[in-house]
Amino acid sequence: MNKLVYCKKCLYPNTKPHLYLNKQGVCNACTSFEEKKNIDWKKRELEFSEMIENFKNSEGKHDCVIPVSGGKDSTYQVIKALEYGLNPLCVTATTDLLSDIGRYNIENIKNLGVDYLEISLNPKVRKKINKFCLETIGDISWPEHVAIFTLPIRIALKEKIKLIIWGENSQTEYGGPEEDSKKNILDHNWLQEFGGMGALRVDDLTAIDDIDIKSLILYQYPDVEELNKEKIEGIFLGHYFNWDSSENKDIAENNGFKAWHKSVEGSYFSFENLDNHQTGIHDYFCYLKFGYGRASAQLSMEIRRGKITKKEAIEYIREHEGKFPYFYLDKPLEEILSDINISMEEFIRVCDKFTNKKIFKCNSDGTLKKDNNLNLEKINFDN
Ligand SMILES: [Zn+2]
Repeated sequence: MNKLVYCKKCLYPNTKPHLYLNKQGVCNACTSFEEKKNIDWKKRELEFSEMIENFKNSEGKHDCVIPVSGGKDSTYQVIKALEYGLNPLCVTATTDLLSDIGRYNIENIKNLGVDYLEISLNPKVRKKINKFCLETIGDISWPEHVAIFTLPIRIALKEKIKLIIWGENSQTEYGGPEEDSKKNILDHNWLQEFGGMGALRVDDLTAIDDIDIKSLILYQYPDVEELNKEKIEGIFLGHYFNWDSSENKDIAENNGFKAWHKSVEGSYFSFENLDNHQTGIHDYFCYLKFGYGRASAQLSMEIRRGKITKKEAIEYIREHEGKFPYFYLDKPLEEILSDINISMEEFIRVCDKFTNKKIFKCNSDGTLKKDNNLNLEKINFDN
């Protein structure tokens, strides 16, 4: 069933993975947002400050690992950790195609006053994985979404650092199964379900020419038994502090974080997803498969927070969302594609392969209906 039925309150359609509409037609991201209003945040904050005392380390090790991308949320995570007297080791998994502004914001995090470790996975292997994943599952960002989880956990294990401080539980912020959206812990089960692996397992990548399991070591989740033995715990900071993207942005900006000079292509915000030129392709494929893009996700949050009306938000997405991704952070698509050895013709063919024809209009010959700029048209856009 792929006909778009939208949440009565926000812009999410029922095609969104892990999204559920209740009897009133309201999605679980909206109901979870309402429920968060009843949380006693003072109490949660106290829980946090008590909990971290158990991890403050006097044995010459860092107190915690903080996975950071350089984004406004990870900047906020680091600021919070320092505020509570933690001595973190910040870990970055370099993105697929790092932008200049992404690099700037990473340098800014280091200068907040932390030890910092950046791990870059073999680019020759990685580019092949980007291409393979785009062509087979329509997800160019698979290696990135896996590495941002596996690398910090591997470092924590290697260094015997017992606490990992993640940001928000994406299942709370963007809608997920009720039970999982209330979790405060990121464990192996959460990761398998929501950590971006999708339909692919690491072993599947050995189907790519010249790639064997040895070149995929760092994509593998570490041994669960070993993790349990070391009692390494991953917590979501968003469980303890009321997570608000815009407020995090303000706090990050006051501490040197730089936003983009305009709304990012396909987005509403100017301060999210600034570190990878491939993200525009990732978001476009979400639109092709499920009929919503990054702007819908961001504006849905703004609607819930009463910062924009649904009518204004719809006007925005009609004009800006789901456009063919000619640029991302001003880098031309041809350059982004040539970096992973894909031609424009091939890219368009892959786009068509993953476009959901129950969502987008077709011509009488069954091909997808596109305007001169290759943009598609939705069948029912009655949001
Ligand atoms: Zn909703």
